[in-house]
Amino acid sequence: MNWYEKNKRSLPWRESSDPYAVWVSEIMLQQTRVDTVRDYYRRFLERFPTVQALAHSRLEDVLKAWEGLGYYSRARNMHQAAGEILEKHRGVFPQDHQDVLSLPGIGDYTAGAIMSIAFNKAYPAVDGNVVRVMSRLFLLETDPASGRDRGLIKAMLGEVFPIGKASGFTQSLMELGALVCLPASPRCQDCPVQSNCGAYQNSRQQDFPLRQKKPKQRKETRYIALIRQEDRVLMNQRSDQGLLGGLWEFPGVAGRNKEDFVQKFEQEYGLALVPEKLWLKTKHVFSHLIWEMKVYTCGAAPEPLARRAALQWIAVGDLDSVPIPTAFKAIKKKIRDEYPNEDKGLPEDFRRSGG
Ligand code: SF4
Repeated sequence: MNWYEKNKRSLPWRESSDPYAVWVSEIMLQQTRVDTVRDYYRRFLERFPTVQALAHSRLEDVLKAWEGLGYYSRARNMHQAAGEILEKHRGVFPQDHQDVLSLPGIGDYTAGAIMSIAFNKAYPAVDGNVVRVMSRLFLLETDPASGRDRGLIKAMLGEVFPIGKASGFTQSLMELGALVCLPASPRCQDCPVQSNCGAYQNSRQQDFPLRQKKPKQRKETRYIALIRQEDRVLMNQRSDQGLLGGLWEFPGVAGRNKEDFVQKFEQEYGLALVPEKLWLKTKHVFSHLIWEMKVYTCGAAPEPLARRAALQWIAVGDLDSVPIPTAFKAIKKKIRDEYPNEDKGLPEDFRRSGG
């Protein structure tokens, strides 16, 4: 903890022990780098400064503020949790561990982080950094993905929490893992616990923690229809559940070839397509999936759209006002490049494609 006081990074979320701010930062930091989170965190707290403000916002605005951070279920869960806090706890962030743990999107780690960092209570928060430090210190053959093994580390930490200093203790361990006990090249020469470290003394830093097998990413060819009508493009709001839930996309389907595309598109959206030109090929890598996207300019009759509420025409000039995930960034950019000013009308390719 002495080392932490001297060496900790200045991070915006460390300026406050407000449980709401700690919660926002911990959720954003899951699967996202600190440098990326800084700006998002500031903007998010400006836009939604309290639990109440978040609860009263439209989900679409929350998703918009999250745009580019990925793993959008985090934002949806936060919005839902804020609603529950308003309803069950009169808008005051709960201080009871079980109440915190019962909120949507808050698991064991996040509950521990909020309880210890915001409320200074002795609840361990075991993230990847802490697993690494502990397994090296004590030569623990733990599997970082195993809940049981994390439970073991939690129990070890639970026994040594310094009374009244839970917040500093939790943050020191996390910071040690983030700055010194690095995954590939730990900086043991700068480490304050070097003399207690089993891995260092046995030169076995690389053996701990045990390696995790990465799940193989599945490849999917996604056919996307770029359908226009004057200065508008057709977009689809994805269902709330699942991948990129609630966000807007250029409508598409997984398919084997063009014929399959047309058939599945009609089943999915109730629209008969006429794919014309392969307009763009682009790719997006999710943690478990790779989308290889083929974007076709397509003609389609606008009339049946009323049958499907999730499909909507969006003006090209308004594309920035709806939450569109990073997966579609290249498509959005190319549309933008081809429509520098929508008043000038549409490029020839689109003009031909009907609508
Ligand atoms: Fe990690 Fe090295 Fe410190 Fe051990 S001595 S905790 S391996 S940085």
